[in-house]
Amino acid sequence: MTRVCTVCSSPEVDTINQQLLSGATYTMIANTHRVSWQAARYHVLNHIPPLLAQAKQAEDVAKASDLLTTATMRDEKALSLMASAEATGDIKTAGAMLRVSLVSLELLARLRGELNQQTTVNLILAPEWVSFRTTLLSALLAYPEARAAAAQALLAAEGEQEGQDHAALD
Ligand SMILES: [Zn+2]
Repeated sequence: MTRVCTVCSSPEVDTINQQLLSGATYTMIANTHRVSWQAARYHVLNHIPPLLAQAKQAEDVAKASDLLTTATMRDEKALSLMASAEATGDIKTAGAMLRVSLVSLELLARLRGELNQQTTVNLILAPEWVSFRTTLLSALLAYPEARAAAAQALLAAEGEQEGQDHAALD
């Protein structure tokens, strides 16, 4: 299936890439540029990893591994902010941090796959996903309602991931 990427065709693509790699969520991109958050997500998952693979072929490995480090640090930071927000009962901030973490996580999984020259990555089998899921659900123990909502969102994300993997085989 061919799909036009509104991010790639945007004159602001370089800026958007920079922002995505330095911690912007899909929603933040959608609010700042004329693209939907779905387009931002599609672009991150499908177009940023190949760019990084090209950088690797140009022997610019340092750049790609810098990005891995950045994404890892960003994920850790988001999780720690999420924990402090939860400690003070600030579920709104915790939710925002959860979204930042999910973006980092998806990107990390894709980057690893690309750097290992695999064509597809199953996020839900990645070790980061499993530990993330555990951390999140245990952090939310004190908030049954939020925990139920998070569990539902995780299940939906996992279902969506499986759908994407099937689509990739077409
Ligand atoms: Zn794109």
